[in-house]
Amino acid sequence: MNANGITIHGVLERNARKYPDKEAFISATNRLTYAKMNETCNRIARYLQDRGLRKGDRVAVMSRNNEHFFYAYFSLIKLGAIPMSINIRLTSNELEVILRNSNAAGIFYEKELLQTVQSLTQSFPLQHTFCIQDTAQEAESYSEDNLNLPIDSREVCEILFTSGTTGVPKGVLFNHERILSIAYGISIEFQLTRNDRMLTIMPLSHSAPLNTFFISGLYCGCTHVLSDFTPQAFLEWIHKEKVTFVFAAPVAYLMAAKDPRLQQYDLSSIRVFAYGGGPLALVSYERVREAFQNDNFFQVYGLTEAGPNGSLLRPEEHLTKAGSIGKNTAVNMEFRVVRADGSETAPGEFGEIILSGDSLMLAYDNNPQATTETIRDGWVYTGDIAYRDEDGYVYIVDRKKDVIISGGVNIYPREIEEVLAKHPAVLESCVIGVPHEEWGETVKAVVVPKAEVTEEELREFVAGHLADYKCPRLYSFVQELPRNASGKILKQQVKKM
Ligand code: AMP
Repeated sequence: MNANGITIHGVLERNARKYPDKEAFISATNRLTYAKMNETCNRIARYLQDRGLRKGDRVAVMSRNNEHFFYAYFSLIKLGAIPMSINIRLTSNELEVILRNSNAAGIFYEKELLQTVQSLTQSFPLQHTFCIQDTAQEAESYSEDNLNLPIDSREVCEILFTSGTTGVPKGVLFNHERILSIAYGISIEFQLTRNDRMLTIMPLSHSAPLNTFFISGLYCGCTHVLSDFTPQAFLEWIHKEKVTFVFAAPVAYLMAAKDPRLQQYDLSSIRVFAYGGGPLALVSYERVREAFQNDNFFQVYGLTEAGPNGSLLRPEEHLTKAGSIGKNTAVNMEFRVVRADGSETAPGEFGEIILSGDSLMLAYDNNPQATTETIRDGWVYTGDIAYRDEDGYVYIVDRKKDVIISGGVNIYPREIEEVLAKHPAVLESCVIGVPHEEWGETVKAVVVPKAEVTEEELREFVAGHLADYKCPRLYSFVQELPRNASGKILKQQVKKM
């Protein structure tokens, strides 16, 4: 019935046996069949083993969306090592915090990211640093046979990172069973088959493109098209490779819909346009639907701690309930909207969304307190505040957790406030999300200076510490921030200032 007992690499090996000549992936630089892909990953796994990498070793993977990601992820999993897919836009300082906290044994990186890795290893030496392209080449002389190591589907096999109110990224632990249970639910919901051609165009460091879609595609023996996002790449890949299934953040759809070359592309092969990570407002949804001449939009809602696997809004439901995250979940999940005491809210009443099912994370890495705060009695407390309408459809109205979602990417204000606090001219700051038509929200810093400082100086300072996508686009200076009686900054009031 479900994915119990199977491993992720077992799925790749099964595909290689059953459909050896089926194309596993297509990228701008390469195309490989399932048989060839499996052999290449076997060779690389043997090479890594030879170089001393062992089962349980945690290894950061930094790659753009292409075959190099595939090589790194699957060769590590075959060895029983634990891939930690990392956002390639992070600075070496941000990377160091993550690798240090997660006790990383090494990093497996694409050649193009050498500079970041070099500046990382100057301050944080790692036992193993492997360039993916060089490794693939050097591994060519190794055997292509499966390693067949004894690996249990309940062992930790992947760590992804998500932040919280602390601003420090937390590792989220998954095993094969939990990840493949997402694939099971998604394959049923979307009736995925090996005739599907799936475009993965959102960064594979995020749980939704990786766990929910890429692995589901593998589970069903789809052909994967892997690419980084630009509006043109999005349109061109669909057209050229007759893509049938794509997942992207709402902003990606909005950008592609207004691309001047849109009319040159035939998008009629698509049977599922999936989106999530943030809402697509009714007007935006209608704009995109009109531009693509296609009604097959599915919204998915979830969070990393639940796989992500959560609720769905199907195409027909968009007609009357656009803006809602739906009332149904994938087959192996449940969700509720509850009051603080855990009881179900009445229609129209605000409460917190909680999620349960087969694909919840095992735990946060090395953080039992955060784990017990987030998972209670088998339910993940999402921090998303929502209500149900009379028909049972859920609408998110606010977030309890302090996060800005810009272009489908989560940005944690606390992390930015901590960087600003290091500037000698900043007394304190409050970072907020302000509405943005295309990106959903954009980052604004409200700063209380203690000495003369310009916006330009602060921009430069922050850019030296944080990935570009986290840097505030807007700044304002105030004499003081509004606080409650106990001294806590009132973010809602700052937003209204
Ligand atoms: P992440 O853990 O990065 O996947 O972020 C999860 C958070 O993104 C959720 O808790 C929501 O706040 C938000 N989110 C995800 N999907 C949606 C959606 N379809 N609509 C609105 N917000 C969403």
